[in-house]
Amino acid sequence: MADLSPRPVPAPDELTQPFWDATAAHRLEIQRCTACGYYNHPPKRLCDQCTSPDLGFVPVSGRGQVYSYTVMRQTSIAGFEDKVPYTTLLVELEEQPQLLLVSTVPGDGAGIAIGQSTELWWEPIEEGFVLPQFRPIA
Ligand SMILES: [Zn+2]
Repeated sequence: MADLSPRPVPAPDELTQPFWDATAAHRLEIQRCTACGYYNHPPKRLCDQCTSPDLGFVPVSGRGQVYSYTVMRQTSIAGFEDKVPYTTLLVELEEQPQLLLVSTVPGDGAGIAIGQSTELWWEPIEEGFVLPQFRPIA
């Protein structure tokens, strides 16, 4: 097996810092437009829906469903060489169509289905970051 790389960690900037501040406290907060109510993720300078600059972060439920997934078997992704096979989930939060977050779950995807409900859990990683992760539920 190839040498293991360090797992990548988030690199917050002024737009994403509020998201990571919330996750550190185990709260899932998504940027929302105060003008039209549209959720923007990842955070934007202007609302994707109405171009308003009046944006803030609000809590969301963490409930969603599997929008899509892919099984990773290659060892070419730095920091994940020893994790294969694992499954990358695209989760659509219940608050809005196309409000998508990415997550990973161990294994080859057996039993995962598009549209399956997901639940949120928190994964502490290096340097004090906490990742919002999702897993399919029955
Ligand atoms: Zn808007």
